[in-house]
Amino acid sequence: MTARVLVVDDLEPNVKLLEAKLRAEYFDVIGVFSGPDAIETARSEQPDIILLDVMMPGMDGFETCRALKSMPETMHIPVVMVTALDQQADRIAGLGAGADDFLTKPVEDVALFARVRSLTRLKMMTDELRMRHTSGQGLGVVENIDYNDYSEMSRRILIMDDREEQIEKLKGFLGDDFEISSESDPEIALSRAKTSNFDLIIVNMSMEDIDSLRLCSRIRSLEETRLTPILAIVRQGDTRKLVRALDIGVNDYVARPVDKNEVLARVNTQLRRKYHTDQLRSSFQASLEMAVTDQLTGLYNRRYLASHLSAMFDRAYWTGRSLSVLILDIDHFKSINDTYGHDAGDKVIQNFAERITSAIRGIDLACRYGGEEFLIAMPDTDKNFAAIVAERLREDIAGEKIYLNGGRDVVEVTVSIGVASTEESDEDDTSQRLIKRADEALYKAKNSGRNKVMLFAA
Ligand code: GH3
Ligand code: MG
Ligand code: MG
Repeated sequence: MTARVLVVDDLEPNVKLLEAKLRAEYFDVIGVFSGPDAIETARSEQPDIILLDVMMPGMDGFETCRALKSMPETMHIPVVMVTALDQQADRIAGLGAGADDFLTKPVEDVALFARVRSLTRLKMMTDELRMRHTSGQGLGVVENIDYNDYSEMSRRILIMDDREEQIEKLKGFLGDDFEISSESDPEIALSRAKTSNFDLIIVNMSMEDIDSLRLCSRIRSLEETRLTPILAIVRQGDTRKLVRALDIGVNDYVARPVDKNEVLARVNTQLRRKYHTDQLRSSFQASLEMAVTDQLTGLYNRRYLASHLSAMFDRAYWTGRSLSVLILDIDHFKSINDTYGHDAGDKVIQNFAERITSAIRGIDLACRYGGEEFLIAMPDTDKNFAAIVAERLREDIAGEKIYLNGGRDVVEVTVSIGVASTEESDEDDTSQRLIKRADEALYKAKNSGRNKVMLFAA
């Protein structure tokens, strides 16, 4: 994995040193020497991560970080602050300014690469989500996200620790704003994490007789928890374990002895980040749904049908069970538009779609195939049964009055239906040919007077 790293330090030798280390690991490096230059370069070059010196003349690292984190073009870029001394006060100030992590000078190689790798990995994932969100907005199907609104954010935390007094201390630090559970048995903890949808898991990395790295890696690999952030509590100076933990996918860490403000800041950062990615993910889900759904009727659209029907077709082939398809076309629909207007026509289409939906089973697939044409695919259904369903639908529709224009107009519509099935399949049958056969049957239904069900016959 390669990444673009922006290194910011007022002293040129410091920039050169970090540059050399990172280049040797095949990172792309840009060096600048002041806060304002860092901001300008971050905006124009969009690096994957920023290593930011704290002590700089003029605009210092905190101020630079605050500015970066407040601008929409740069707020998503992770910032690692590089401090001369490992001062607790600096960390708290840095976290307050929005920094994602810290490194102490002289910068240790292992710690440097582990941080750069884990933060850029995380960023790439959110970049992908942000990109999808932007395309969704471009299509006009997703809402804007307000990055300052946390009113709906949930704060459910699971603490995994084998020592009761440490759990109590942590609970005391975090206070009442969070919904905290704790567990000392790793198996129980895992099964609770699988079912309870926590927003953050805090793991003590130095539990006795428990392989905490393995625990973290299992959290990461389980489907239900692979996106849940993990905050590790590590022993001061245990760099080896920390690096392994970050490589496994632990999102952040706090060193013992745990400082109240630091742990609070890191917990909040993780919760907020998760909240944002959840929002992005669900907005993407929504835009996906929009992309495969017909706006007027809420049925699947033709695009979805194309991909899904071929999967249904393959399954029918492998299981040896019949798949049947109905194509329905409203009779003389043009005259409804001509007589009552286009909006009334839309109402008829919606009404028609509702009746289809209520007549079919959950495993059947109904889609709007064209203007006033619909397709229903029914797995595990032979042609005779499909014909019975079709006939029932035809009768239902012919027998119901539809009220339009506020009840002033009443129309009755009829429908013609073509039925085909994989029972007619030869060796090189395809889902497209199945549709074509149903279409041919529909054509016959139309030609023989409409308001009819016709089965495909070779
Ligand atoms: P047939 O019995 O042969 O099917 O006759 P028909 O009039 O139903 O068929 P035709 O294909 O000639 O006309 C379909 C009409 O459906 C033409 C088109 O304007 C109308 N239509 C297509 N989509 C929509 C829609 O979303 N809303 C409305 N109101 N009308 C639509
Ligand atoms: Mg028609
Ligand atoms: Mg038509």
